[in-house]
Amino acid sequence: MKEDILHNLEIINQRIKNACEKSGRDVNDVKLLLATKTVSPDRIKIALENGQTLIAENKVQELKDKFDDLKDIPHENHFIGHLQTNKIKDILKYDVRCVQSLDRLDLAEKLHQRLLSEGKTIDVLIQVNTSNEESKFGIHPDFAIDLVKKAAEFETLKIKGLMTIGLFSAETEKVRACFKILKNLQQEIIQQNIPNVGMKELSMGMSGDLETAIEEGATIVRVGTAVFGARNYPDSYYWDETGKNS
Ligand SMILES: *Cc1c(COP(=O)(O)O)cnc(C)c1O
Repeated sequence: MKEDILHNLEIINQRIKNACEKSGRDVNDVKLLLATKTVSPDRIKIALENGQTLIAENKVQELKDKFDDLKDIPHENHFIGHLQTNKIKDILKYDVRCVQSLDRLDLAEKLHQRLLSEGKTIDVLIQVNTSNEESKFGIHPDFAIDLVKKAAEFETLKIKGLMTIGLFSAETEKVRACFKILKNLQQEIIQQNIPNVGMKELSMGMSGDLETAIEEGATIVRVGTAVFGARNYPDSYYWDETGKNS
C-alpha cells in the first residue's frame, strides 16, 4: 500500500514536471492538491509523511471523521465539495484554510456572517461551471464576475482565484475549452481591478486531464484516483446537482 502511493506520487510529480516543461512554466508555480474523498486516514498519512502538504475533502462528514487522525501531521485543508450553509460552522471548526467551491451569493454571505462572529477570515476560490453540465456545481461563467464583485464586499472572504471541474471527455480539445474559459475569466477579472480580489490561483485539472490544465495555466491540480486508486463511489455521489447526497 505504502509503495503504491509513493510510486503514484512520483509519477504524478513527473507528469506535472513534464507538463510545466512543455508549456515553459516553473514547476514551483503548480501545487499538487490531493483529493482524499473515500481515502482512509492511514493512507492519507502516507502521503503527508512523504512530502505532501495539501489535501481536500468534498464532504464535511469525511472532514470531521478524519480530523483527529490527521491533526498531528502538518498539512493544509481545502474544501472542494458542495457546501451547504448549515455546515459552515464545521468548515471553520475543522480548520479548512480555503473553500474552493464558493459558487453562490447566499453561501458567501452566510460564510461571512459566521467568520465575522468568530473573528476569522478564510481563503476562497469561486467555482465556475465551465462544462455547462447540469450535474456539476459552480456558477455559470456569465455570472461569475458578478459573484466575484459581490463576494469581494465581504471582507472576511479572501478571494484567491477560480476553480473548475472540466468536462469528462476523451476529447482533449473539449476539455481544454473548459480550462480556457476559466483562464479568460481570470484575465477579465484581473483587468477590472476589483478591490479585495486576488486572482492568482486557477484550480483545475485532475487525474485524467492535469497536463491540459497546466498548459492552460493551472496553479493547483487536484488529484485523487491517480494517487490513491479507484474509488467505490461514482463521482455523481459527490457532485450530485440536487445535493441530496451532500
Ligand atoms: C474527486 C475530485 C477530484 C479528483 O479527481 P480524480 O479524477 O480522482 O483525480 C478533483 N476535484 C474534485 C472537485 C473532486 O471531487
